[in-house]
Amino acid sequence: MTELIFRDDAYIRSCTARVTAIDERGVRLDRTVFYPTGGGQPGDCGVLRLADGTTVAIADTVKGDSADEVIHVRATDARLPEPGAEVTAEINWDRRHRLMRMHTSLHLLCALVPGAVSGGSVGDGRGRLDFDVPGASLDKEVIAAGLNRLIAEGHAVAPRWIDDAELEAHPELVRTMSVKPPTGAGKVRLLEIIGVDLQPCGGTHVRNTAEIGLVEITKIENKSRQNRRINLAFAG
Ligand SMILES: [Zn+2]
Repeated sequence: MTELIFRDDAYIRSCTARVTAIDERGVRLDRTVFYPTGGGQPGDCGVLRLADGTTVAIADTVKGDSADEVIHVRATDARLPEPGAEVTAEINWDRRHRLMRMHTSLHLLCALVPGAVSGGSVGDGRGRLDFDVPGASLDKEVIAAGLNRLIAEGHAVAPRWIDDAELEAHPELVRTMSVKPPTGAGKVRLLEIIGVDLQPCGGTHVRNTAEIGLVEITKIENKSRQNRRINLAFAG
C-alpha cells in the first residue's frame, strides 16, 4: 500500500520515499506524489532521484491491483534502485498543473450543462465530457461564457470525505454514469467547488477556479441522438 500524498495536497511536487518493490511493471514506493491514471485523468510523469545523484525517468503512473497501489513506470531501461533504497520522487509539475486546471474546468462544465455525464477525458491543454442530453441543442458561446464567468469568479475548490451510507442517501451526487465512485472502502472522496458543484472524484484539482485561466469550447459534437461531446481547450 502506498501513501497517496496527492490526495490530500495536489500541490506537493516532490517527496522522499522508500522503494518497496520493483517488477517488470515498474517501481512501487511507500509514499508518492505521482497520480496514477484514473477517473479520466492521465498518470503523472517525472523522475525518481537516487541517493547517488542519478535519476530514473518515469514515463507514466498506473494503479496496481489494489486501489492504494501505485506503479511508477520507467521511461527507459535505466538502472533501477534496489528495494529499500531511499529516493526523491518528483513529478513534472508544469504538466500536472495544466492537468489540474483542465480537470477542474470540466467540473465547472458539469455545473452548466444539464444531463448526466456519460464519459470524459482530461488531456494536456484540452479535455472533453460527454453528456446525455436528449433532443437539446447546446449553445457553444453561451456555455463558454458561463464557464469563463465561473472561472473568473474565483470559487474555492476543496476535497471532502463522506461515508458510503451518506453517498447512497444522495444518489444525485453521482453525475458520471460511466464512472461509479469506488465504494466499499467505507468512505468516498468528494470534490466540492463551493457553491457550484459537488461530486465524487479522486483526481487532482486547483484550489481556486481563478487559477484555471481562460478556456474555450473548441467544438460540440453530436456523437449520437442524445450524446453531446463538449471539447475544451485553454484559450490563447
Ligand atoms: Zn475531479
